[in-house]
Amino acid sequence: MGGSTEFPSLIGRAASGGFGPPQPAKVSPRARTKQKMYITQCHNNELQENLIRTPAIRVSALTKSIQTATHKVDILRGIDFDVQHGEFVAIMGPSGSGKSTLLGLLAGLDTPTTGKIILDGEDITGLDEDQMARLRGRKIGFVFQSYHLLPTLTAEENVLLPYELTGGNGSQGRQRARELLESVGLPDRRDHYPVQLSGGEQQRVALARAFMVRPPILLADEPTGNLDSQNGQHVLELLISLNQREGTTLVLVTHDPALSDRAGRRIVLRDGLVVSEE
Ligand code: ADP
Ligand code: MG
Repeated sequence: MGGSTEFPSLIGRAASGGFGPPQPAKVSPRARTKQKMYITQCHNNELQENLIRTPAIRVSALTKSIQTATHKVDILRGIDFDVQHGEFVAIMGPSGSGKSTLLGLLAGLDTPTTGKIILDGEDITGLDEDQMARLRGRKIGFVFQSYHLLPTLTAEENVLLPYELTGGNGSQGRQRARELLESVGLPDRRDHYPVQLSGGEQQRVALARAFMVRPPILLADEPTGNLDSQNGQHVLELLISLNQREGTTLVLVTHDPALSDRAGRRIVLRDGLVVSEE
């Protein structure tokens, strides 16, 4: 199909738009060597290590328990892992293992019971709501399992929203929103309201919205869960293209082998613990 071959180029085209928050560094091996040489001139080993090694995400000893009316539920029971800049990690595991809870914590939408989450060197566990909202705006795109589109906004307005929330306005934003809607296969649904869209279409609008401001880190909960194989393939290509062309760090909860097979690493949860990493 013409659509799927043209599809990856849309992000590339949109990438030259020149708006949105600062781009994640696309570090070539050569640039990295240069960076190391420069940093070596600092004569400060600790600083060197920090600059080169600061992971995009560091999760340490993370737990989440919830007290219900009758008993305490230990949803996450001590999770540790790092995600490096530009990595593509799939979070897998059976239903109820804690995947969505973990992703919500990484996005700062929920607070851990104990443990730490460090995003790009910044501990988010101590931030208040306003600080977290600002950091999220700069660093994180999030795609929920339920799409959370605003019912009073059209598809295009929903996609534009994060751009406008971070201070953007004007025709460039509108142009990118249109390109993104095209790239998720919805060029003719721009003016539709969420109720006028199917579940799969709403999911694709939510993805386009998450890509709008080119977040350095994209977290998505089963982004292809409700899509047929053709649209699933489109979304897969969009995600891979974001990761490879724009250096976006991807952390995706998924059951879809088409997606998890393309990840650089798979972290498997069971009963609130990491049982394997490969
Ligand atoms: P997954 O996404 O892997 O299916 P979740 O993170 O949604 O798992 O949930 C993990 C476990 O925590 C499930 O057993 C779920 O029922 C429980 N859980 C999640 N949120 C709550 C809550 N607010 N109150 C009580 N139990 C919850
Ligand atoms: Mg879930």
